[in-house]
Amino acid sequence: MSGLGVDRPIKRRAGSAVGGLPVADSRPVLAGDAVLGSRCTACRYPSAQRELPWCPVCYAPAAEERFAVTGAVWSSTVVEIPVGTRKPPFGLAYVDLDDGPRVLVHLAEPAVLGPGARLRITGTDDGDLVAAMEVRA
Ligand SMILES: [Zn+2]
Repeated sequence: MSGLGVDRPIKRRAGSAVGGLPVADSRPVLAGDAVLGSRCTACRYPSAQRELPWCPVCYAPAAEERFAVTGAVWSSTVVEIPVGTRKPPFGLAYVDLDDGPRVLVHLAEPAVLGPGARLRITGTDDGDLVAAMEVRA
């Protein structure tokens, strides 16, 4: 037997004790002018998941953190098939938040954006983050 995981807290899912969702909703949460998440107290690794019991990189404690709503596109695509209640075409992008993790967003307008294109998260749609091209003053 290895000691891996010994003395580590078990990740409980929201509502699991009362028969709630079998899988926690891991989507990032937008709160006003910030995306909520966690940051490692030792190596500073950022995560868009909240209430992480430990850092996924170094296992040090993770603390609640608020991240910027602006960032640069890592990759994007336009989806041309219906997915769930989403009607095509719609745009998706992975965005590297300026001071935080990479998050998946729906695009306000379907378009394929080049890497580095600037986006601003403007709200949510059915729980998913929505972003639009950043307009600089
Ligand atoms: Zn860490």
